Amino acid sequence: MIILTWKRGIVLNKVNNIYCVGRNYAAHAKELLNEIPTSPMLFSKPTHALAEANGQKVLLPGNRGSIHFETEIVIRIGRPYEQGIKLEDILDSFTIGIDFTLRDVQTELKKKGHPWLLAKGFPNSAVISEFIPFSGIEEMKKIDFSLQRNGEKVQQGNIKNMIFDLQTIIDFTALNFGLGEGDLIYTGTPEGVSQVMDRDHLTLHWGNSVMGECVIKLA
Ligand code: ZN
Repeated sequence: MIILTWKRGIVLNKVNNIYCVGRNYAAHAKELLNEIPTSPMLFSKPTHALAEANGQKVLLPGNRGSIHFETEIVIRIGRPYEQGIKLEDILDSFTIGIDFTLRDVQTELKKKGHPWLLAKGFPNSAVISEFIPFSGIEEMKKIDFSLQRNGEKVQQGNIKNMIFDLQTIIDFTALNFGLGEGDLIYTGTPEGVSQVMDRDHLTLHWGNSVMGECVIKLA
């Protein structure tokens, strides 16, 4: 269990499991020359991977090939899953996060047919910014999320472009792995993933609001 506190907004008391959805936007699947999946593609990260984007440096491995940023909507589950439960009743808040990925390592793992954990589960690979209360799916579809690197927008997405919507992801995750309070789900990245560089200043945006920021330190 990890205690996280925020300067403003709601307090994220604990994180239990961290689930992630791969290839959930068609344009991103295509840019990495992957096929578009026919059912949700899930993987997970250890809680040690969590890091807050609250202005501080984020230390990432600099000696294991390229690291890509993947900017994603991260949802937080607020109560135990029950069959048939609606999104509005189980999703309590969300934020913008980064699923950092050791891309060269992942490419090698894919070739061998090995699990992705080495490429996805390293410390600080799961960045989250400030969580805000869930205000309904239609409200969320009105606002784009984005990532700026050194002041330049490099990724932009909207949940309406997901291949598998949030309700499908929640049901699929619960059915296969279990889902309860304090679980986070990274819901997939839109196109525009790219290599992060030492000293990059990253800011995570929800519409016009900055939800979090960090500076990359490769070591
Ligand atoms: Zn991802």
